[in-house]
Amino acid sequence: MTISEKGFSIEKRIKIRNLIPNSLIDWEGMIVSTLYVGGCNFRCPFCYNADLVINPEKFPVIPEDYLFNYFWERKNFLDGVCLSGGEPTIYDDLPEFLSRIKNCNLKIKLDTNGSNPDKLSRIIKGGFVDYIAMDIKSCLETEVYQRAIGVQSTQMVTNIRESINMISNSGIDYEFRTTIVPIFHNEITIEKIAREIKGARKYVLQNFVSTEELLDNKLADVKPYSTQKMEELRRIATFYVENCIVR
Ligand code: SF4
Repeated sequence: MTISEKGFSIEKRIKIRNLIPNSLIDWEGMIVSTLYVGGCNFRCPFCYNADLVINPEKFPVIPEDYLFNYFWERKNFLDGVCLSGGEPTIYDDLPEFLSRIKNCNLKIKLDTNGSNPDKLSRIIKGGFVDYIAMDIKSCLETEVYQRAIGVQSTQMVTNIRESINMISNSGIDYEFRTTIVPIFHNEITIEKIAREIKGARKYVLQNFVSTEELLDNKLADVKPYSTQKMEELRRIATFYVENCIVR
């Protein structure tokens, strides 16, 4: 992996490490296949896909020929493809990969951590995505963000802000989302994030689930917020965005 001058990492060829053939939950109202890339340029302590992020080589690569035959055969059954991970934008050939999916007449939802606005710009301008779900890990203050993403990068907050503005003004359907972890997020954090995305169409608060398999297993003992507390956070965000939901 190499690091670009804007502080994000790049790998040449996309590698799909897992495929969920049919999913009704990854894109509301759509029947999709969900693909997972391995590797990520972040190390969020609360990441649920720790092995896929840190040890992607443990998962066999699904050959592209197999994938595209699969999509072609099911193009009349599937509505689209959800590309998740890991972080898809670390791959240099992502736009070409998405364009091949589009050639199968399938819609595309991209999950991203928003670290790579240059890659997002190419994807949006190329018309390669129909929906973008971007994580906002915390409020956009350098030290706070570094703690939430588990990597040191003074550039990252600038990149995230650039991605937020680009997605908001793209005309493409989108959502911003934050996984709410009590030791990282409170009322003040959520209000700061909501101000940053003021006017956003959709903001999703996802409650943290503690498991033994998080990237930082010390978080396994952290208790998630109650339903009532999540509702309080949702109400705060609602002042700034068009629609805020708890998922
Ligand atoms: S939660 Fe963080 S570390 Fe895990 S895949 Fe998403 S951005 Fe990468």
